Amino acid sequence: MDASNKQGCCAATTEAEQATMKALVYGGPGMKFLKTVAKPVLSRPTDAIVRMTQTTICGTDLHILKGDVPVVTSGRILGHEGVGIVEQVGAAVTSLKPGDHVIVSCITSCSKCEYCRRGMYSHCVDGGWVLGHRIDGTQAEYVRIPFAETSLYKIPAGMDEEALVMLSDIFPTGFECGVLNGKVKPGDTVAIVGAGPTGLATLLTAQFYAPSKIIMIDVDDNRLAVAQKLGATDILNDNEGMAINGVMQLTGGRGVDVAIEAVGLPSTFVACTEIVAAGGTVANVGVHGIKADLHLEKLWDRNITITTRLVDTVSTPMLLKAVAAKRVDPQLLITHRFTLDQIMDAYDTFGRASNTKALKVIIRA
Ligand SMILES: [Zn+2]
Ligand SMILES: [Zn+2]
Repeated sequence: MDASNKQGCCAATTEAEQATMKALVYGGPGMKFLKTVAKPVLSRPTDAIVRMTQTTICGTDLHILKGDVPVVTSGRILGHEGVGIVEQVGAAVTSLKPGDHVIVSCITSCSKCEYCRRGMYSHCVDGGWVLGHRIDGTQAEYVRIPFAETSLYKIPAGMDEEALVMLSDIFPTGFECGVLNGKVKPGDTVAIVGAGPTGLATLLTAQFYAPSKIIMIDVDDNRLAVAQKLGATDILNDNEGMAINGVMQLTGGRGVDVAIEAVGLPSTFVACTEIVAAGGTVANVGVHGIKADLHLEKLWDRNITITTRLVDTVSTPMLLKAVAAKRVDPQLLITHRFTLDQIMDAYDTFGRASNTKALKVIIRA
């Protein structure tokens, strides 16, 4: 081997060693760091590497940081939402190419397993919610996306990409787990308990079906004011625990056709079962960490349906078309903007939402 060849080899090694990036890394309960880590590489032919241009923080990330999701281990890059540009694709990827602008879905789908064939991507045997959970996530300059062709969604040219960050998780979650599972129909009365980002996404997408009433319930006046601007017909502050009476007054004592739980507490779930009308549906959206009571002694003869679901993101293509046609505007939920270097501030702002009035924060890489 001559010297020049050797040099070339050394140069390549040095380049590989230098392939680093900034990322938000989980350090165990209560700890997170903005660190320089190795840039991800393709590991399977169906992978793509995406350069993240915009990401966000989810309530689920706060749960992880509290230590509520023990599957997430120290060293994991957090985040399961965002948009970016395809940088590199594996040999088996034919429908995506470097330079394509994409939405990263919070759910990874192999498209081949039994669950994927049934449209239940959330339970994909080799995917589901893995980003920022079982594998490194999107709060970084780059992310490796497994099964890229069925886990990324191409963004048509000219769309507002910041708004589309909301399509990674909260819009499909509110729509599928709340509106579709709740079977919202024209003329229905709907109550949404919880006016956080997902509850508000549920409010916006419920309007596709023209319900006669959408009652929003929360304990935060700012969020309720936002809900009113976004189309809630009625708002109720449950600070004094009187929202159930309020719903009964608004519905002539019958209760609502659809009660959507978008908080994740035992009390808010029980409240939904108390405000649902005979024949109605309680659709759970919230992530529950502890058990909730089910009062079958009151519910056994009410002909109600209770649904649970992890978002499958099957509605993402439809939501993308609805946003393109300006039938819904996810941009309305964005309140703050940061750079990746400011991600610790972004977490602080998002974590103190009742003071900062934060809904969704955008982080630009
Ligand atoms: Zn999320
Ligand atoms: Zn699958």
